[in-house]
Amino acid sequence: MSIKNYFCIVPFSSIKVNPDGTYRACCLHDSIKKPDGSYYHINNDSLMDVWESEYYKKLRNDFLNNKEVKECGQCWDIESSNIKSFRLGGLSRFKDFHQTLVEENFKVQKPVCFELAMGNLCNLKCRICKPDNSSMFAGEESIYKNCKIEDTRAYQNLKNSTQSLNRKFWDQDFFLNALEINFAGGEPLLLKNHEILLKKLIKKNKSKNITLWYHTNATRIPSPSLLKLWNEFKLIKLSLSVDDVGDRFEYQRYPAKWQEVKKNVLYFLNLPLKNRIFVRLDATISIFNVFYMVDLINYVKMVNKNKNLNELIFGYHFLTGKSLFNIRTLHPKEKNKIKYKLEKYTKLNHVITEIINYMNKEDWWSRDIERLRKNKIKTADQQRSESFIKTFPEMVEILNF
Ligand code: SF4
Repeated sequence: MSIKNYFCIVPFSSIKVNPDGTYRACCLHDSIKKPDGSYYHINNDSLMDVWESEYYKKLRNDFLNNKEVKECGQCWDIESSNIKSFRLGGLSRFKDFHQTLVEENFKVQKPVCFELAMGNLCNLKCRICKPDNSSMFAGEESIYKNCKIEDTRAYQNLKNSTQSLNRKFWDQDFFLNALEINFAGGEPLLLKNHEILLKKLIKKNKSKNITLWYHTNATRIPSPSLLKLWNEFKLIKLSLSVDDVGDRFEYQRYPAKWQEVKKNVLYFLNLPLKNRIFVRLDATISIFNVFYMVDLINYVKMVNKNKNLNELIFGYHFLTGKSLFNIRTLHPKEKNKIKYKLEKYTKLNHVITEIINYMNKEDWWSRDIERLRKNKIKTADQQRSESFIKTFPEMVEILNF
């Protein structure tokens, strides 16, 4: 019997900042606490404080001892469905760095990857998102919780992140070792302050070694000043959060407009950064779009017919965890109906098989989840004058909505 290798490069390579200013090792872990129970926060604690924390030391040791770290359950789960996990993605992205670590007997260096979700400032309130990650939810949250706007999480996070967007954070020398910097949000193309860091990296002659990776909702294009800075970097990667097409896209990513986003996708593919731009459509698979995934794959194929543009890569990940919109929470009968449709298209893209595997691997359905999901959809429909029933007629039938 082969022994699984649980090693993950994350605690040797990366630090992540959350929209509320706390730190994490990776997007699947919880925020990092100090021994006294309080959280590390960018207003009080530097990147170095976190990198040298007991938490990071323990995580590194656990991986060196090939422990199956409990907090990493989502990676083991995804891998057991034969899907590439964050762990495996990191190992392939940082293959050379991994090799150096091995040669140097895992002597800890400075991080080479920074994942910066610097605040929840956003112009959308997507159905699968939450107030922690988008300031746009403040109005709906205050109605739902019957509280003042100032007391909502959406507002509080925005306030904290505004404080945290200070020059002191961006100016840390710890960034000079970077090979990759990820910007998320909120919406990172609204984050003018991150240009402070880009200018510093250019000034210190580091930019040509660094990949910048933006996780954007594709409703904004870069300003001329940002474009000029991008020109100085090794590679610009853009992950576009586009999960569906037409009216269904607009419903899921309110109040984005499909026509505008389609135009922006072409703009990104046409950027004059020859061989230095990588554009990926990055769909989050949820109960809203799972039935319609074929339409999105066909949209990507259609875009790629124009050989004068850079290629649009099709990427995806699952809405994981206990979200009401995770496809594992569908009733087994509903899953069967979706499987019946998708199975006809398994040759179109490997994602179809992976969706079926992920969806059916565990049954998370319960009457409570179904009731809460219906309520959540209906409440947001009322607030936004939208209609799940009209926008997703096939899913309404499947869900008996
Ligand atoms: S194994 Fe997965 S969850 Fe754990 S640190 Fe690595 S990427 Fe994150």
